[in-house]
Amino acid sequence: SSQFGVTTILIIITLLTPITTYTSPQPWNILSHNDFAGKLTTASSSIDAAATDFGHVTKIFPSAVLNPSSVEDITDLVKLSYNSQSSFTLAARGHGHSHRGQASARDGVVVNMRSMVNRDRGSIKVSRTGLYADVDAGCLWIEVLNKTLELGLTPVSWTDYLYLTVGGTLSNGGFSGQTFRYGPQITNVQELDVITGKGEIATCSKDMNSDLFFAALGGLGQFGIITRARIKLDVAPKRAKWFRFLYIDFSEFTRDQERLISETDGVDFLEGSVMLDHGPPDNWRSTYYPPSDHLRIVSMVKRHRVIYCLEVVKYYDETSQYTVNEEMEELSESLNYVKGFMYEKDVTYIDFLNRVRTGELSLKSKGQWDVPHPWLNLFVPKSQISKFDHGVFKGIVLRNNITSGPVLVYPMNRNKWDDRMSAAIPEEDVFYAVGFLRSADFDNWEAYDRENMEILKFCEDANMKAIQYLPYHSSQEGWVRHFGPRWNVFVERKDKYDPKMILSPGQNIFQ
Ligand code: FAD
Repeated sequence: SSQFGVTTILIIITLLTPITTYTSPQPWNILSHNDFAGKLTTASSSIDAAATDFGHVTKIFPSAVLNPSSVEDITDLVKLSYNSQSSFTLAARGHGHSHRGQASARDGVVVNMRSMVNRDRGSIKVSRTGLYADVDAGCLWIEVLNKTLELGLTPVSWTDYLYLTVGGTLSNGGFSGQTFRYGPQITNVQELDVITGKGEIATCSKDMNSDLFFAALGGLGQFGIITRARIKLDVAPKRAKWFRFLYIDFSEFTRDQERLISETDGVDFLEGSVMLDHGPPDNWRSTYYPPSDHLRIVSMVKRHRVIYCLEVVKYYDETSQYTVNEEMEELSESLNYVKGFMYEKDVTYIDFLNRVRTGELSLKSKGQWDVPHPWLNLFVPKSQISKFDHGVFKGIVLRNNITSGPVLVYPMNRNKWDDRMSAAIPEEDVFYAVGFLRSADFDNWEAYDRENMEILKFCEDANMKAIQYLPYHSSQEGWVRHFGPRWNVFVERKDKYDPKMILSPGQNIFQ
């Protein structure tokens, strides 16, 4: 009769649950589990939030959301799934800034990593002597920066935008204008705590459980849920000299970029972008150009249709403040930008790192932040970048004439990455990050997506060996091509750490 009672309760729960949440019965048996009391929810507001991401082009509903308050909550849930005959999928969700449902779990459970962050418990512990911070993976990078700056310290490798979680960027790579010098965020981590797909928790580093350490870094959430990361720190600079130089000639632009990233003690940050739209030269990534210059920049874009912007930064503090100007003057004299089109700003270190926030808040206030973002990010080998410029920026993009918003293009040094990690990168010593950071309307995002497909096809037909970053592949064939010779290791690691294929199903790698 007790069997009958449980069944009746489950039927009543199912009938009372909002329509979006009862697509699969699998995780229901855990709802009444005491271990998760109050932490596992099927409230439609939570389900709806977990079904959506920054991309706003997918809506993938989980059956439940776990708001863990401890590592044990997560291990218990993973074990429950792993040991069950009908296991359910689980996706760690950082800040949900994926663009294609990568942090989703259709009919499974989304684990909200942000709920682990607890100021009172000390989610960020800084060791001044060890020069590292132990950080809960659900922390945002801005929280890490604010905490470490209190002690005059800072991580060295960043993303352009700081409202991303540590676990989320470490699952991808995490790169920005500092990467050519310091490597991506995944090479600036000393230790991780990871819960594997079997529900086992392990501390790992280059010397301890190293295979799991390398698997998890850039591992797209496939091998475990990262709960803690030890991030390398250095002494924080105080201020940043922030320069932009405009170019008409792509080969002059890339020659200068490549020379600067080969120098050992030159600039601290280097990026670049393409300007091909007749709108105001600033965009949400930063408000930069003096308004009095907008017109002449726009008319240069109109005249040449495509121009390029080199962006560099030199940090400084009390000791280097007397030499930094001279150094930057010397640097600017060595560059082949269009004379008269050099811009300079002097800002605090934190204002520079947090430069995207102002644009985000402004778009949010206009209701333009939570819109579709059909992004395309690529790594293009150096030997192919001029072909890419010709065929894509000056070809596909001009022809279609729909691209707006930031288009990034800047080189990085391969030797600052680590081949043992899961992240897929091109083989050449130098490769370019190219990012189409598109914002669209709900009724036109597919046009941008079609342009993305056209660009990918162009790269493939030209055998460029370009690799997607924040990858999206609709079939496993795409993933096999994505990882190339590393695919076998990726599969072996999946078999070892998540044999039931429970974790991060939204990446769509293993069906
Ligand atoms: P989510 O979207 O929540 O998750 C991403 C993936 O990681 C999912 O598969 C998820 O299951 C998995 N995951 C999340 N947390 C964990 C964890 N603790 N353990 C294991 N797996 C986990 N990237 C750059 O490299 N450089 C940039 O400059 C940059 N700029 C950006 C600017 C904006 C405005 C946005 C929206 C994104 C940017 N990104 C950039 C991309 C960003 O790094 C990724 O989208 C990243 O995944 C976002 O982190 P998140 O915390 O939102 O992750």
